[in-house]
Amino acid sequence: MDLLKGKVALITGGSRGIGQAIVRKYVAEGAAVAFTYHSSEAVANALATELSTPDTPVKGYKSDASSYAAAEQLITEVLQDFGKIDVVINNAGVTRDTLLLRMTEAMWDEVLNTNLKSVFNLSKHALKAMLKARSGSIINISSIVGLTGNPGQANYAASKAGIFGFTKSLAKEAGSRNVRCNAIAPGFIETDMTEKLDEKVKEAYLKNIPLNRLGSAEEVADLCVFLGSDQSSYITGQTISICGGLYD
Ligand code: NAP
Repeated sequence: MDLLKGKVALITGGSRGIGQAIVRKYVAEGAAVAFTYHSSEAVANALATELSTPDTPVKGYKSDASSYAAAEQLITEVLQDFGKIDVVINNAGVTRDTLLLRMTEAMWDEVLNTNLKSVFNLSKHALKAMLKARSGSIINISSIVGLTGNPGQANYAASKAGIFGFTKSLAKEAGSRNVRCNAIAPGFIETDMTEKLDEKVKEAYLKNIPLNRLGSAEEVADLCVFLGSDQSSYITGQTISICGGLYD
């Protein structure tokens, strides 16, 4: 359908799960794609080789999203390699679940830095080029848990709730230059992240999902295509839930 033809997208955490599905959909819609990974080097290289064509170049970069300096270097490299950045998707994320009484400072810091500080790191460094181009779409992958809270996920829920405030603020700062910023709040999506959850937890979730099934990474990727395309040109500062109707 070429919804993203001519656009360059940077997707963090593109090696697995939702990020990989976004990389695939973006290429299918005609975008050139830069994506990052943290440790899955072989998977990332295979993905770039599989998808890259002269019309839709795809390149993987090993880059820790939680590092401010690494984000600055990444944006410089992507601009050199691709010439511009139209869409940034802040997707990289981790969980380190446990009850607050058992949560260590390291577990808190790792989740906050990977899930929330990363959004600051990437958005800040990409923003200059977008403001200059008077065009851009920043998409932040949050979670329904940021809206509802969840026992055992105080660190994760706090990181995802922080994304909402960041998103609304940046939308207000950058809107006059046609740079949009939106958040997506997925519910329960089948990936490695949810694979490790206890079966009883999964069953409890399912009971509360009106559509009566888990979501797929591809369904989240479809929403990312919409928010990165010109079809969403009047949407900014919003959080869109994609959760099968899951309520708290
Ligand atoms: P996943 O399958 O565990 O994949 C996580 C991705 O993030 C991987 O590509 C991983 O790279 C990358 N990553 C992790 N730490 C990184 C770092 N420091 N720097 C750069 N990349 C890093 O997770 P997922 O389920 O696809 O989740 C993707 C996003 O959606 C996350 O932000 C998550 O919180 C959010 N989300 C997921 C669900 C769900 O139900 N799955 C629900 C709500 C929100 P490596 O492969 O190199 O490790």
